[in-house]
Amino acid sequence: MESKSKHILIVDDEEDIVSLCKDILEMEGYEVDFALNGKDGIKKSLTKHFDLILLDIMLPEMDGWEVIEVLRLNEKTKDIPVAMLTAKTEFKNKVLGIQQGAIDYITKPFIPEEIIYRVKRILENE
Ligand SMILES: [Mg+2]
Repeated sequence: MESKSKHILIVDDEEDIVSLCKDILEMEGYEVDFALNGKDGIKKSLTKHFDLILLDIMLPEMDGWEVIEVLRLNEKTKDIPVAMLTAKTEFKNKVLGIQQGAIDYITKPFIPEEIIYRVKRILENE
């Protein structure tokens, strides 16, 4: 019996990253939405239930840290696990991400198996 598929929101301004992630996750049976900037990401997160948000740090206008702050302040989004998706590899960012309540930290570039493994690990531990 198939379980109800989980919904994932990808927020990233790089369209090739978004479509790659979307393809990978849809092949695994997840339902995927995306936003290309933080504002739209927040808007989308309020329109329906998401089980996980993959959030880029380097976004135009509003960066990932600001987005996660807004998500944490809203009753509807405050408990959604957020995994940071970023090209930044500096250790201080990793520490900051964990302090801000990010559940994981995925460094770009990544291989499909890594995304699948990390997403599954997060969603199965919920
Ligand atoms: Mg970016």
